[in-house]
Amino acid sequence: MKNILVTGGAGFIGSHLCEKLINEGNHVICVDNFFTGSRKNVEHLLDNREFELIRHDIIEPIILEVDQIYNLACPASPVHYQYNAIKTIKTNVIGVTNMLDLADETHARILQASTSEIYGDPVVHPQKEDYWGNVNPIGIRSCYDEGKRVAEALMMDYHRQHKVDIRIIRIFNTFGPRMAQNDGRVVSNFIIQALKNEDITIYGDGSQTRSFCYVDDLVKGMTVLMNKEDFMGPVNVGNDAEYTIKELAKMIIELTDSKSKLIYKPLPSDDPCKRRPDLTLAKEKLGYTPTVNIKDGLLKTIEYFKTVL
Ligand code: NAD
Ligand code: UDP
Repeated sequence: MKNILVTGGAGFIGSHLCEKLINEGNHVICVDNFFTGSRKNVEHLLDNREFELIRHDIIEPIILEVDQIYNLACPASPVHYQYNAIKTIKTNVIGVTNMLDLADETHARILQASTSEIYGDPVVHPQKEDYWGNVNPIGIRSCYDEGKRVAEALMMDYHRQHKVDIRIIRIFNTFGPRMAQNDGRVVSNFIIQALKNEDITIYGDGSQTRSFCYVDDLVKGMTVLMNKEDFMGPVNVGNDAEYTIKELAKMIIELTDSKSKLIYKPLPSDDPCKRRPDLTLAKEKLGYTPTVNIKDGLLKTIEYFKTVL
């Protein structure tokens, strides 16, 4: 049994991670400021005496005795990370520094939830870990993508300077139950619109692509990386099946048997044209391959949204 801190543990991915770690017999401390996460996401764990929930903002330091830290605290949806852009940068700089100081003091291993966004609007396709990216440093997404790039730099500098035991995972678009209703990301927006027979809002012409990973696959890859000796990443984890946003919309209409129509809205600035992970390194180092195909994942997510709507 390990003592494990999960920051952002009341969020979408964090709640699935806490559940998995508890089921595997660990003691889990979930720290969250409830900006985009909620107590409801971890309600089913609250009666377990190996689970602790603390309302705390990682921008403030915290002292806890732990063996491992999963640092997920950070809003992930463009709508939410742009709502208070300065706060998003602080979470990725001051917050990550606080978590690295904690790892340094307690000799804990720390895993940083990085993102495919560090590749920006990629000119290399699919994206491999040695690609340095194409990011606008002054755009509306930079609070998040530059923030996450600084977070990776901080992780590497604490490793080089203080020998902190680090892991960096670059997460590609992940979806599943417990995404917030007001999350604003494409999968939750389209499913909610389809279930309500409302217009499906495609930004741009819908030819931009993403590769969607079901949350169970992602969380598995995350725990394998955390517990792997002699490999710290960065490593891409996701699903390498690539779809246009228009294809995704049509698939969701079909799976929900919806009467929704497609409508087109302006594409937000700096919205990446394409994205797909090269998973060669994940396969080689972690034995990782995604197992849930997009339709099965969408069906589970649709069932979830039917219960919350
Ligand atoms: P989410 O918004 O559901 O979860 C983020 C959680 O962090 C929420 O519970 C929120 O309340 C909490 N939080 C935010 N700022 C905080 C702070 N300063 N202090 C304490 N808690 C704070 O998003 P998610 O999709 O679950 O993403 C989790 C992590 O994975 C994020 O770091 C995100 O950048 C990363 N990620 C997610 C995806 C994806 O597709 N879901 C892709 C790439 C990276
Ligand atoms: N998108 C869309 N309609 C929506 C929400 C998003 O067409 O209602 C598009 C968005 O412009 C982007 C893609 O879907 O091109 C994925 O957006 P999301 O916010 O889910 O993730 P990210 O852009 O961070 O990969």
